[in-house]
Amino acid sequence: MDAISDPETEGVLARQILERYREAIRASRENEPVLRYGRRTLAVSTLAQQFYCEKAVQFSIERPFAPTAEMQSGTAGHEAVAALGIPMTPEEAVAAAVVERVRPLCVYEFRIGWRHSGVTITGFVDEAWFSGGSVALVAERKFSGSLGIYMPYHVQAGLYCLGLGEMGFGTDSTRYRVSVFKRECHRCERLAAGDCLLLSGEAGQQDCPQGAGISQVFPFEREQTARKLDLAMEFWTGEREAEPTTSPGRCRSCRYRRVCDSSTARSNDVAL
Ligand code: SF4
Repeated sequence: MDAISDPETEGVLARQILERYREAIRASRENEPVLRYGRRTLAVSTLAQQFYCEKAVQFSIERPFAPTAEMQSGTAGHEAVAALGIPMTPEEAVAAAVVERVRPLCVYEFRIGWRHSGVTITGFVDEAWFSGGSVALVAERKFSGSLGIYMPYHVQAGLYCLGLGEMGFGTDSTRYRVSVFKRECHRCERLAAGDCLLLSGEAGQQDCPQGAGISQVFPFEREQTARKLDLAMEFWTGEREAEPTTSPGRCRSCRYRRVCDSSTARSNDVAL
């Protein structure tokens, strides 16, 4: 059965969503900075990164390094897939998102912003699939040397779902998909053309001559995600200091291991 679209209701919803988004951005500009390092907003990607190692996030601000080749290949892969989308203004994207449809519509690089405990949180969702103002799916893509779906990925995708809900979209039955690609995948023509089965979620695992990857879908857990956000924000509001990871593997591959007092890899470096 076809979905029945009601332009008037959809228009009202789109205006409400856009007004909430603009209000969040406006508040961040008008209010005095209340966060560490004089920040006025927090990015979803940074908040998620705290669940890898908060100490590393702190170092990345206080002692920033130039991006590594690995980081650049991740960005290149990201851009290759984002290029599949049609560029839209926030107004156009929201107008498309509220239309009632039989099949959800995918909007790439969907811009989000909302207020949480007096702080503006912002982000770009890799893929958000909408119908009638509800979010069917949020898809997050990662390029990594390690094919695992780790906590920071869950937090990032969960925060996108949370933010969309706070903006006024329906998220009662939202799910999120995390796809992790090998770094080599960023040069893949099938990926850039949108033909990789991992990208569409048709395959949970892929191993081909160019690269490999995994993809999995999870239900969005609102309460759990909000608790994670509160926990991450305690660092920014100064309620507590940065927590180092307890994972030796993370320290071993961390660029700050030689200067970090908490590094579990530091003693090995000194002995070398
Ligand atoms: S060395 Fe370990 S504890 Fe220190 S910043 Fe890096 S990952 Fe975190």
